Amino acid sequence: MSDDVPRRLKLWLPKRVIVTRSAQAQEHGRAIAARAAALAVPVDILSSDRLGLALPDDPRQAYAEAKRTLAVTVAPPSRLRLQPIAPSADWRVDLAEGCPAHCSYCYLAGSLKGPPITRVYANLAEIVGILPGYLGTGTVTSRSKARANEGTTFEASCYTDPLALEHLTGSLSALIEAFGRWQAPVQLRFTTKFAAVEPLLALEHGGRTRMRASINPAAYAPFEGGTDPVAARLAALARMARAGYPIGLTIAPIIAADGWQRAYAGLIAQAGTALADVPDVDCTIELITHRYTPGSKAVLDSWYPGSKLDMSDANRAEKRTKFGSVKHVYDASTMKELRCFFEAELASTLPFARVLYWT
Ligand code: SF4
Repeated sequence: MSDDVPRRLKLWLPKRVIVTRSAQAQEHGRAIAARAAALAVPVDILSSDRLGLALPDDPRQAYAEAKRTLAVTVAPPSRLRLQPIAPSADWRVDLAEGCPAHCSYCYLAGSLKGPPITRVYANLAEIVGILPGYLGTGTVTSRSKARANEGTTFEASCYTDPLALEHLTGSLSALIEAFGRWQAPVQLRFTTKFAAVEPLLALEHGGRTRMRASINPAAYAPFEGGTDPVAARLAALARMARAGYPIGLTIAPIIAADGWQRAYAGLIAQAGTALADVPDVDCTIELITHRYTPGSKAVLDSWYPGSKLDMSDANRAEKRTKFGSVKHVYDASTMKELRCFFEAELASTLPFARVLYWT
């Protein structure tokens, strides 16, 4: 696909939108409800803040129904106390929680509790309003010699894919514009497996938002149901770079399936082609290997029983997090092989891009 002529992308439409009473009291909440109604999505305004989902008893049907439900809610106070999010950014800022896609490795499966509906936050003004209090207080990238020049960094993709929802919320655009107006050493960061960047291209971003495309080889598309094709994501990234945004590639999760060397060499070459004629591109790379916890595996096995994604013990090692929980990562020899491969391939094919971290 040429990046000059973007193909029409299929935007996600929920089957229903439910708006809590508190969300309806917020201007942004009403705006989201109006956008959904304009797209002919049924909107239900609740008389309280309790989300009565009334999901079917059958787990498969309940999953499908939940994934097609968008709730407009107010971010709770805990979401307004920002947390560090290593290694990506100093702070995590949430515009939403949940994602409409169906990735069979999704890290949200272990982090979010309850049915996998997508919640978007109506109190955007309040979320934007707390950010100045965090200026200069970062302990992750701000304390890294190599990255301190990024200023205080804020990651918006921890609990959602914000671009997947942008046509319904406009929240990401509003946040990008807020960073554009913020004359301070700060950076908003988001990463996405979607490609509908059109609403972002003309924003006054001030160079203070870095978009990263989260990519995997096209052959792994069956692991990434409901996302946009990787070629479309790369074309979108090139368009953002031409619109003056700093950009990046999140190669994640790196999956050591049969034939991975060839698949990832092709992916990196594809990224090189997509970005080849972008002038003065400011491009970073983040490399994240596939991992899972016993909890996320159990949830993902129930959601995607037919997935071919290998979550067996083969080539795996157990790692304890600093909080004492267990995660399964690739074993040392697989990790070494992967890392050597990526370092060599990236240096030769994308020499203009700098690697931020490997994990
Ligand atoms: S796009 Fe990201 S957040 Fe959404 S299902 Fe896939 S991995 Fe999860």
